[in-house]
Amino acid sequence: MEFMMEKTTNQYLLLTPGPLTTTATVRAAMLQDWCTWDDDYNQDIVEVIRAELVKLATKHQGYTSVLMQGSGSASVEATIGSVMTDDDKLLVVSNGTYGERMGEIAQYLKIDHHVIRLAETEYPTATQIADILDADNTITHVAMVHCETTTGMLNPIAAICDVVKTRNKIMILDAMSSFGGIPLDIGELGIDFMISSANKCIQGVPGFAFVIAKQSQLELCEGRARSLALDLYAQWQCMQQHQGKWRFTSPTHTVRAFYQAIIELKQEGGVNARHQRYLTNQYLLVSGMQNLGFRCLLSEDLHSPIITSFLSPTHPRYDFKLFYNELKNKGFVIYPGKVSNADCFRIGNIGDVYPDDINRLIAVIKTSMYWRDEN
Ligand SMILES: *Cc1c(COP(=O)(O)O)cnc(C)c1O
Repeated sequence: MEFMMEKTTNQYLLLTPGPLTTTATVRAAMLQDWCTWDDDYNQDIVEVIRAELVKLATKHQGYTSVLMQGSGSASVEATIGSVMTDDDKLLVVSNGTYGERMGEIAQYLKIDHHVIRLAETEYPTATQIADILDADNTITHVAMVHCETTTGMLNPIAAICDVVKTRNKIMILDAMSSFGGIPLDIGELGIDFMISSANKCIQGVPGFAFVIAKQSQLELCEGRARSLALDLYAQWQCMQQHQGKWRFTSPTHTVRAFYQAIIELKQEGGVNARHQRYLTNQYLLVSGMQNLGFRCLLSEDLHSPIITSFLSPTHPRYDFKLFYNELKNKGFVIYPGKVSNADCFRIGNIGDVYPDDINRLIAVIKTSMYWRDEN
């Protein structure tokens, strides 16, 4: 095996839910080393990012943010493990892999919990959640996914947050694949802890994730963590007291790239403009695929503009890996399906991807021999 030569342009577009296609300028921002003791890293980069994330998440006062090393799941685990006491009980609303993962985290950490498993292709309803909360008053916290990346469903969080907040429970939202790409105000919704990561809709590179928290709630979490490295409170305290200092080695290059990604989000016109681009991408994708005869897993009103699941073609020549390799050779990386009761593949719209790219993708799929005879 040989190492590849350095490349500055991408060979293909990642039509995946992260890591995703980034701009050349975001990648170029990584070409410098940083000292993690100095203000030009901690104050001028980390602290600026922390403040910007809070501004992106809410107009309300009283929120703060913490950055955490690792993939998105590490920050979900840090949150659940640092917020819950031994007397608390977590209700996990699951309608896909990522909801399921929050239940697994609670199980690993031996946190008292109940998982409500709902259909992957239907909306969870506020009434279902209200019934559980009313039947079990030992539940103190509710955790849920915003965009369930398994299917692409955009869960109806406003109605569910309402039910949770009127019962004075703590709300934890995994907004991993939606934050920065779908407008939301966590203060407005009454969300106490929201988790997302660097390599999704903010369009940075992988390496860390972050939690935006209601400060009064985070302040209660001292000494609750079940893990040293994933102690959300301790990480927050370190960042607060030492102006952006991370407790352990900071993913400096990734953080600097993320700073550039936030600049580019603003240049695009902010979350609303980015949302519009993703919506256009998704509209072109779905209408283009439907014109070719493909069918979506979810009904249209349940879709997010983040990622779309398509039912696999029934043609005898169809084989996901062959189809995937063909598209990859022609410049597009798609994603396997993940739902339990249907054979699907997925195509994402997020990242540095534009309507022209989607139109080119449709043209390439049109000529593929793997799903239709007359191609
Ligand atoms: C991507 C994603 C995660 C985190 O995945 P990692 O692989 O740990 O980064 C969690 N939840 C959702 C909804 C996601 O889309």
